[in-house]
Amino acid sequence: MRTGRVAVVGAGIGGLVAALSLAAQGLEVIVLERAATPGGKMRQIALGDARIDAGPTVFTMRWVFEEIFAEAGARLDEHLTLQPAAVLARHAWDGGGRLDLYADIDRSAEAIGAFAGPAAAQGYRAFCDRARRIWSTLEQPFIRAPRPSMLSLITAAWPAGLAELWGVSPFATLWRALAEHFADARLRQLFGRYSTYCGSSPFLAPATLMLIAHVEQQGVWLVKGGMYRVAEALAGLAAARGAQIRYGAEVAEILVGGGRVAGLRLADGERLAVDAAILNADLAALAAGLFGELPARAVTLRGERSLSAVTWAMLAEAEGFPLARHTVFFSGAYADEFDRVFAQQRLPAHPTVYACAQDRDDAGGGHAGGPERLLLLVNAPPSGDRRAFTPAEIKECERASFGLMRRCGLTLRPMATALTTPAEFERLFPATGGALYGRALHGWQASFQRPGARTALPGLYLCGGSVHPGAGVPMAALSGRQAAASLRADLGSTGPSRRAAMRGGTSTG
Ligand SMILES: Cc1cc2nc3c(=O)[nH]c(=O)nc-3n(C[C@H](O)[C@H](O)[C@H](O)COP(=O)(O)OP(=O)(O)OC[C@H]3O[C@@H](n4cnc5c(N)ncnc54)[C@H](O)[C@@H]3O)c2cc1C
Repeated sequence: MRTGRVAVVGAGIGGLVAALSLAAQGLEVIVLERAATPGGKMRQIALGDARIDAGPTVFTMRWVFEEIFAEAGARLDEHLTLQPAAVLARHAWDGGGRLDLYADIDRSAEAIGAFAGPAAAQGYRAFCDRARRIWSTLEQPFIRAPRPSMLSLITAAWPAGLAELWGVSPFATLWRALAEHFADARLRQLFGRYSTYCGSSPFLAPATLMLIAHVEQQGVWLVKGGMYRVAEALAGLAAARGAQIRYGAEVAEILVGGGRVAGLRLADGERLAVDAAILNADLAALAAGLFGELPARAVTLRGERSLSAVTWAMLAEAEGFPLARHTVFFSGAYADEFDRVFAQQRLPAHPTVYACAQDRDDAGGGHAGGPERLLLLVNAPPSGDRRAFTPAEIKECERASFGLMRRCGLTLRPMATALTTPAEFERLFPATGGALYGRALHGWQASFQRPGARTALPGLYLCGGSVHPGAGVPMAALSGRQAAASLRADLGSTGPSRRAAMRGGTSTG
């Protein structure tokens, strides 16, 4: 260590976890965040006195945060109040039908049986079983591993686990695999939607992604005070463990000296000497040269951008439909939605609408009436850097989205609304086009194309949703922990030793 200092660029979930982990180990850590608040995509929008979660709203894989807090000498439940959701989500279809999915498999199977018949209930049980097997096959050798490859997976599985590895179905699309379990297209839509959790199309993503269904099955929690509390809790604990967090501090260049990271130049011209940097910005920003030419050469960007979104954070009166905390409204043209978004780079004509009713509990209770806090989200193309959608295009998307909800029974009377489009997401997360989940997982190779924490430039590490193990709050957190572990291991193994006289007259560095 020359300066004794490590920088984390970005206070998204990955960056905060990396900073917490390093600070808890006694390293001097400085976090530089261009925004005024922590959290990155986990952000809140203020409408009058109301604070609305306008980023992630579904909290899963609680154990990830339990481990991270414990490693930092703290307890998760002393920092966050989490309540398990019995109803995972409510679903409604344009053409009719409503279905709640539960944390309890038997309850869900019963609901699915009543909704689509006994064969569908059986198909659901087989699907859950398959999703669970995929998860348990991949948890250790893939999700928790630093940077897995197909070869490392085969080696880890060899020979007894090869059948299980084949069972993760990397070569079939999720949509095709779902047809083996569900004859009813509405159920294929419901479970296919899990691929959008990592910004991908169910028609192109590998069937492996059905493991996300298992992750939800393992538990969805409601965070008291809103999802943004997770970012606040991580930032608070990182600061308590000694990390310095500077907001409004945009990093303009990663400085290279002696073949490794030597410092940072901020947008206002300030220079900081550091031994190493963990970058939490999207990989696309690094590859595009936003942090300098040399650091850009340290990574390779492969594949296509993931989904962006149009979101409406609003205070509105809702009538006519029993909203749950998480409700999804499906239209009848699912393939068309993804074709327009990915192939045509247009807003969907028949969008799927996700609604998060933030004043309600999992089953929809807890709201006494009157205006409530809602986040509505539809999929959109990641083209925010190429062209902004015109007001007429946005209006058309809004009409289609609100029309769908109305046909499902829901009337919304908004009092205040904050709209976010792909162009705005591009402004918040430069060089992404507004893509919110790194690169799309289209094709079996995509998961292996994400970089791990280490880059080709010594002293430069990566974390966040665009690197392994991928997007989503817990995954980004795991990547932050992995980046901190890699950095610590490297500093430990390559730190210069003190000069010393040795027999033979050599002194080693
Ligand atoms: C609308 C929406 C809904 C979502 N829903 C869910 C959900 O329900 N559940 C779930 O698990 N996940 C969800 N996600 C995904 C999840 O939010 C992300 O995968 C995760 O939060 C990404 O974290 P990250 O570590 O990649 O950091 P990011 O959130 O990408 O933050 C990166 C940070 O780096 C900062 N930065 C960038 N460049 C610079 C620079 N030059 N200098 C200084 N700072 C810089 C940025 O300002 C930002 O704060 C959702 C995302 C969105 C947008």
